[in-house]
Amino acid sequence: MGLFSKKDACPVCGGEVKGLFLVKIGDKKTLCKNCSRQISMSKELLKTATPEFIEEHLDYRRENAEKYAAHNWTVKVTSIVGLQFGLDEAGRAIYLIHDDLHDEDNPVVFSFDQITGYELLRGKKKLDGMEDTGQIPLETGLSALGGVARALKNDDSTSTDCFHLKLTTTDPYWKEIDLKISFTDSQLYGTFGIGGFAGDFKQVCQIIKSIIRKEPVHYIG
Ligand SMILES: [Zn+2]
Repeated sequence: MGLFSKKDACPVCGGEVKGLFLVKIGDKKTLCKNCSRQISMSKELLKTATPEFIEEHLDYRRENAEKYAAHNWTVKVTSIVGLQFGLDEAGRAIYLIHDDLHDEDNPVVFSFDQITGYELLRGKKKLDGMEDTGQIPLETGLSALGGVARALKNDDSTSTDCFHLKLTTTDPYWKEIDLKISFTDSQLYGTFGIGGFAGDFKQVCQIIKSIIRKEPVHYIG
């Protein structure tokens, strides 16, 4: 147990365990860098994951990479701070890239059928859900002096706010997803109303909602 104790080998592949940002699984085991970077599953599952569970997961991730490569991503949205989104309308699938999904190298692909729930919050306040029709409001009722007005004035570009995009899916490793998207007013609404990601974000949310509601899916580029 001393300062110089040799670390255990990776419980999945037997490789050397060193470096930063390594993934820990159940029984206080730590994965090597190679295995760590391929993991994409909820924290709850990781906490109790066994090496065998991880091995199965790595197979699943290899299949995911093949799926990702096989789809024709006609829409790729990269303007949203911290979130990337792709859509294959004909192939009926989306991908999401986010730090919480730990999937930048191998974006998690969801078929339309796998997505079962959607909710959008700003801070703790609910803005939109799968039962709501019509335009998605990005403002809460509370922020009377809305972000657009604040961004136009541009007097407080450092104040941060966040959305929570919450999804439920039938993916075995991501049954519940809560993607936090932190932003400043000017990132959301642009500087003097130009260049913000609000429009793209609304569209992405609308697409996800439409998928669940089995309504037509459109992206206006
Ligand atoms: Zn390993």
